[in-house]
Amino acid sequence: MKAITYQGLHEMRVEDVPKPTIQGSRDALLRITLSALCGSDLHIYNQRSPVNEGAVVGHEFVGVVEETGPEVMRFKPGDRVVAAFYTACGHCDLCRRGWFSQCQSKATFGHGEFWGGLGGGQAEYVVVPDADHTLEPIPVGMSDDDAIFVGDIMSTAYFGAERAEIKPGDVVAVVGAGPVGLLTVQAAQLFGPARVYAIDFVDQRLELAQQFGAIPVNGKEVNPVEQIQKETGGRGADSSVECVGVHAAIQTSINVVRGGGTISVVGVPDKTIGDFPYIHAWLKDLTFRAGWCNVQAHMRPLLELIAAGKLKPAEIISHRMKLDDGEEAYRMFEAHEATKIVFTG
Ligand SMILES: [Zn+2]
Ligand SMILES: [Zn+2]
Repeated sequence: MKAITYQGLHEMRVEDVPKPTIQGSRDALLRITLSALCGSDLHIYNQRSPVNEGAVVGHEFVGVVEETGPEVMRFKPGDRVVAAFYTACGHCDLCRRGWFSQCQSKATFGHGEFWGGLGGGQAEYVVVPDADHTLEPIPVGMSDDDAIFVGDIMSTAYFGAERAEIKPGDVVAVVGAGPVGLLTVQAAQLFGPARVYAIDFVDQRLELAQQFGAIPVNGKEVNPVEQIQKETGGRGADSSVECVGVHAAIQTSINVVRGGGTISVVGVPDKTIGDFPYIHAWLKDLTFRAGWCNVQAHMRPLLELIAAGKLKPAEIISHRMKLDDGEEAYRMFEAHEATKIVFTG
């Protein structure tokens, strides 16, 4: 089958690799109908995430179940499904507490042997272990475009907004208006804020953020922290959601909130250690949350919200490409020439 594989720094290659086969009794084999390129794939592309050479990449995908192991209860061949970007067993202590993202046997798609040795979704087929707790059925009538992002960036956006403790009437700052930031602008509004600011440097992204209801703040033109303080009587935002993962953005997300505010970090950090302004956090009574999304907890309700027209994740798709154009897709995404790329096969 055709797949995009990691070969080294800035080197992704479209290769013919063996079609995966079911190994365990809780596995499902999917024929992928749509996959996407995620910001965290750029961590692989830039060698910030360790991945073995030749690994099939990609962790955002939807597909049709082709075959199931004997213990798979929720799915049968022919079902249309969306996958979380990592597996969860559903029965360990942390899964049973609802923390699927902390599952004790979790593995991540498309990140090679260091993250559980799963296949990737930027391919024609993938095997999904623990299928009952990793997949969610796509509602009848919903398109792949609408469903795909609940497996990663839509859930991440919602998770980030929820953990920012947004109250009706609040002012929220979304730091970074890439795909996750744009969907965070949408998700934040479910909690009733009066204003949502979106901070970025890229005009097209800010235009889209504005279409989704945000007030754009261009970091090239103004100091975002000063600007938002000025527009909030000197206080700052009630909460911030950091959607980039680089140190400067985390710093902005801390500085932009008022005393007693909440910071929610969902961007994949590009470093293992950073400076944390303890004294600043203490003086300002800040609440700081960080984490990768508990996807399985949110997929179902988010699909319902999309079906109801209250979230419109498909609107961020800017480019439709073929797997054959994988190398060019990575180059474009890295160069900010595309907001969100999906592969149609
Ligand atoms: Zn991702
Ligand atoms: Zn588990």
